[in-house]
Amino acid sequence: MLWHYHCPDCGQPLEVEWARHKEETVCRKCRSRHYPPTPDEDPFAYIAGARWPPELEQIVIAHKGAVCSAPGCFRTYNTLTLKKPISKGGRISVDNLIPVCTHHARDKGEQDYEEWIQNLRERELNEQLAAVTLPMVQAETPPAESAETVPLAGYVQLISRESNTRLMPLPENRPVVMAPFLRGAVRRLVFDYEWEARGGGEVKVYLVAWPRGEEPRLDFLESEEFAGLKAVKEHWAERDARGEGCVTLELPPAPMGRWTAAVVMEGNGAFAIKEFVLAGCD
Ligand SMILES: [Zn+2]
Ligand SMILES: [Zn+2]
Repeated sequence: MLWHYHCPDCGQPLEVEWARHKEETVCRKCRSRHYPPTPDEDPFAYIAGARWPPELEQIVIAHKGAVCSAPGCFRTYNTLTLKKPISKGGRISVDNLIPVCTHHARDKGEQDYEEWIQNLRERELNEQLAAVTLPMVQAETPPAESAETVPLAGYVQLISRESNTRLMPLPENRPVVMAPFLRGAVRRLVFDYEWEARGGGEVKVYLVAWPRGEEPRLDFLESEEFAGLKAVKEHWAERDARGEGCVTLELPPAPMGRWTAAVVMEGNGAFAIKEFVLAGCD
């Protein structure tokens, strides 16, 4: 197993047996005596081949943590993978190695890191949209009684969505999300999200709506005087935690036209929303 690095004095590419990388050596070009850099000292020094010594793995974990590198995955790592695979010129170096769980090691395969992350995000988003859409469609679909019965399609209007975001409670109940939508066929709003709490705490997630032109006072959210429509979901955590939440808000039969939907978070700073989809459905 050879350890590849550059001479600290003249920059000449050099290599030593990994087993002897802590011993003093001599540059074959400038003849300087030096110690090859450790993986800790040079994240770009690399081992030729497809395997890595346990010591290198320990240094990668010390630098990058023991949690899977896939966004939104909190599993403890099982193996390391290469951001840039060997098939594309990647190397076994501290810079190029990342910790992953078994599932995400297989999922990444031979993709470049950026390409993989983008595919992951697109897939997650589609899954979230499907999660919002499907229950609505099913709920509104009458049981098929005969071959001639055509099931009714559910209506879904995507109002707003965000992945890899960090929404935290804002002072004076200022909305963390506010977006216009066309009332049309929309009878109900759905706010589907993933939350995370650091150190524990509590939060209320309000889903609010009002016809455009009316401006209900959001600092009155808790009181009877609040003039908009609202639904709320509360979360409480004793320590670090994460989970999923969903708030739905039924809209009254009238009026149609342009509306505004808003999400307000009330609570301490321990809570954050990481991903969400806000949609209207029939
Ligand atoms: Zn040299
Ligand atoms: Zn993972």
